Amino acid sequence: MKKSILLYLFLISSLLTFAQDEVQIDGRIQPILNDFFEYCKKYDIEYSDKLFQLESIQIVDTLPLDKHSTVLGKVLRDENGDINKIVINWATMFDKEILRVVAFHEFAHHFLDYKHTCHDCNEIMAEVNTSYFDIARDWDNQVEHLFTTSPVYLNNQQETATNLASN
Ligand SMILES: [Zn+2]
Repeated sequence: MKKSILLYLFLISSLLTFAQDEVQIDGRIQPILNDFFEYCKKYDIEYSDKLFQLESIQIVDTLPLDKHSTVLGKVLRDENGDINKIVINWATMFDKEILRVVAFHEFAHHFLDYKHTCHDCNEIMAEVNTSYFDIARDWDNQVEHLFTTSPVYLNNQQETATNLASN
């Protein structure tokens, strides 16, 4: 009897915990996400709605990692085509600069509405990057460029201009 009550309580509490943690975020990515959100605040970009659209941001060992096809990070979509998960290849954890570039790249797809800016041009939103270290070395400029040329930021600027014009 006692046992079944305990089990019942356990089930209830795990259901509650599950309902509260709407977005599951890997602890190793959380500080990078916090950093990204600081930039969102700096550039006046709303991020909480988009955050709660996500189910999870995880480090996974299921992305391809070989000579011809390596995927370091990816956004996954639900049946409506909306991004619901962000996954980062475990291999990026060998270097914290690479992890940060890849994470910012994936975050920018989701939070800043980015598509790739080029194939390989040494910027965060390039489709592939031959040198992550060039980006890391020039980090502050890279991030400023990422935010100030992002679709969400440009859209906000345009709206502000339109509002000013119609006042
Ligand atoms: Zn991408």
